Amino acid sequence: MYYLSTRNKQLQFTPAQAIAQGLSREGGLFVPQQIPTLPEGALEELKDLNYQQRAAYVMGVYLDGFSQEELLSYAEKAYSDDKFDAPEVAPVRKLDENTYCLELWHGPTCAFKDMALQMLPHLLSASLKKNEETRTACILVATSGDTGKGALEGFKDVDQTRIMVFYPKDGVSEIQELQMRTQEGSNVGVCSVVGNFDDAQTGVKRLFSDEQLRETLNERGYFFSSANSINWGRVLPQIVYYISAYVDLVKQGAVSMGDAVNICVPTGNFGNILAAYYAKLMGLPIGKLICASNSNNVLTQFLTTGIYDRNRPFYNTVSPSMDILISSNLERLLYAMSGEDAELVSDYMNQLNTVGRYEVNDELKEKISACFAAGYTDEAQTKDTIRAHWEKHGYLMDTHTAVGVHVREQYRAATGDSTVTIVASTASPFKFCDTVLESIGETDLPAGIALLDRLSEVTHVPTPAPLEKLKNKRPRFDLCVEKEQLSDVVLDFLN
Ligand SMILES: *Cc1c(COP(=O)(O)O)cnc(C)c1O
Repeated sequence: MYYLSTRNKQLQFTPAQAIAQGLSREGGLFVPQQIPTLPEGALEELKDLNYQQRAAYVMGVYLDGFSQEELLSYAEKAYSDDKFDAPEVAPVRKLDENTYCLELWHGPTCAFKDMALQMLPHLLSASLKKNEETRTACILVATSGDTGKGALEGFKDVDQTRIMVFYPKDGVSEIQELQMRTQEGSNVGVCSVVGNFDDAQTGVKRLFSDEQLRETLNERGYFFSSANSINWGRVLPQIVYYISAYVDLVKQGAVSMGDAVNICVPTGNFGNILAAYYAKLMGLPIGKLICASNSNNVLTQFLTTGIYDRNRPFYNTVSPSMDILISSNLERLLYAMSGEDAELVSDYMNQLNTVGRYEVNDELKEKISACFAAGYTDEAQTKDTIRAHWEKHGYLMDTHTAVGVHVREQYRAATGDSTVTIVASTASPFKFCDTVLESIGETDLPAGIALLDRLSEVTHVPTPAPLEKLKNKRPRFDLCVEKEQLSDVVLDFLN
């Protein structure tokens, strides 16, 4: 199976080329030529496998040129029990009668990004070998917090790679910042950018399209690659856990094989929910996909009206990993739903670039509303949700998960649809201690790392080991620059 660009279907790429390159030259995203369907009986078969085997099976359907043995060995390394503190890797926990949290944060950085970023380095290293690439991949990351740490942890000391992470100075939590600034490894760099996530992302996109920089680095033996959620190697491992969660629900007797479930995803760059959409196209019985946003509700508007408009105020919220106004992976959805119309997609993306707005045609609107529901929460609702579920069910959730849980409740109240729903739980509550503590009624909060102990004392939930270890670490990185200066930082880093 070949991969094409969402903006130009003429060029074909092997999976290894698509993964190594990350982003197509003309700005499009790589997509498989067609989305494969699961063979008859596949879900029955997957039900009796462990997570690592499920991952190898599902990824194998998309990756010609990668053997099952090879993929299984990557999955065993990526999701080993010294990296994940839950034997199921991505366990499904019952929240109430019809709601289940799919906990995606049991990995080394306590956020769902680990699910993909522990796998991507294996896929990328293998791809470089398959492509007979001799240069070193320089991975550039713009992060709203969790991707940066996830990518650093995944790529640290991986051969033939260097990784440079840019995060918005005013857009990450204290714990997130500390996690990045203390990163270990000989091939890593970390730098903050004045502004918000979109500033950091715009700066990094500019680096990717800077031909002169590309040439200079080529002479030094480097090429750019991306670990952002636009890389196909990020999307693919995320498809796995929706399929895995479904067969786990069947195993637990919560649904019968073939019953539809809804999936609700707290969304930012549209990568996670896109993976659920692909799982649906593959034949996983999914009813509605519910897209949950915070006050940066550009996607709520888009999915309910067909109008994408980034000309709106930007809010820094208590769910910072979703503070995004340009959801890059939406491009892949438009491509799939428009019948793979690369010209139409290019046109919309062009409008987004130039005037910051586009409106999709009626046919697309109809297809979108048949498949998606959408909603958003304000800060008070997010905090109330954390408190209510802690008090009622003794279930402690982070701010992003709370956005998902609340939008799922709104959706049920508005539609009466009580289909069993999987809510993607995207971070450990310990990554956002201050808001979680406030939500459950704590006052006089300590600063910084002492928050971890307070949350653990009050809730009797143990602090995840990787965060506990932060206490003994010193920051290694303290560079902060304007978004126009990123190329200097990169040239310095790769000197
Ligand atoms: C990245 C992130 C999200 C948003 O996921 P997307 O794939 O960008 O939509 C939600 N919650 C947390 C905790 C995250 O780190």
